[in-house]
Amino acid sequence: MMRLDKYLAHAKLGTRKEVKKLIRQGFITVNGEVCRNDDTKIDEINDKIVYDEMPVFYQEFYYLMLNKPEGYISSTVDELDPSVLHLIEEDFALDLFPVGRLDVDTVGLLILTNDGKFSHNLLSPKHHVEKEYYVELEKPLSDDDIIKLETGVLIDEEYTKPAKIIKKEDTIVHMILTEGKFHQVKRMFHAVGNEVLYLKRIRVGTLLLDSSLEEGDYRFLSDEEIMQLK
Ligand code: URA
Repeated sequence: MMRLDKYLAHAKLGTRKEVKKLIRQGFITVNGEVCRNDDTKIDEINDKIVYDEMPVFYQEFYYLMLNKPEGYISSTVDELDPSVLHLIEEDFALDLFPVGRLDVDTVGLLILTNDGKFSHNLLSPKHHVEKEYYVELEKPLSDDDIIKLETGVLIDEEYTKPAKIIKKEDTIVHMILTEGKFHQVKRMFHAVGNEVLYLKRIRVGTLLLDSSLEEGDYRFLSDEEIMQLK
């Protein structure tokens, strides 16, 4: 059950304020009866909601890809830095949460959703979902370092799971991980005496960061992209 005004706003009929006005003006019917109370509780599955003779369908879950810029935190509330949710110009933005975390200075692919089960499945260590990062390093990486990083280095008194390094240039690599410890990429390179200067996530599972998205921009995931991630 949910309030009628919330349902209509979620169905993208307008902002909460605009849909309240439509309700008051008598444009909305619930199961054939005009309803002028915005706080009427409706059954979003079984009730038939109509606006000006057009059925209104409600979308329960949203899935967005954000190209996260620096200076925003992957949290739903502001701390020292603002939350990434400030970048989302949708009236359902406050229902969303990021799937996993990127550091405040990390950029790139961040999935946002309001689907807890979907998020849980992507993050669960049991599912070994790959995350791929583009990494710029302070110093060139030796073949020995690559072997150590791929086999496992000590972080939090535990060896990291097998990782994959793809060397692009002396100081530029892609790193593919299947786990997500706090500051994992930075700490892994630190463990072999190097430092990360720039970090960008470019893939989560089957989903590649859309190269047409500028930093700070986002788009909805397609049904196919969502299905492949589930
Ligand atoms: N590893 C890091 O060190 N930082 C991130 O933001 C993501 C992975």
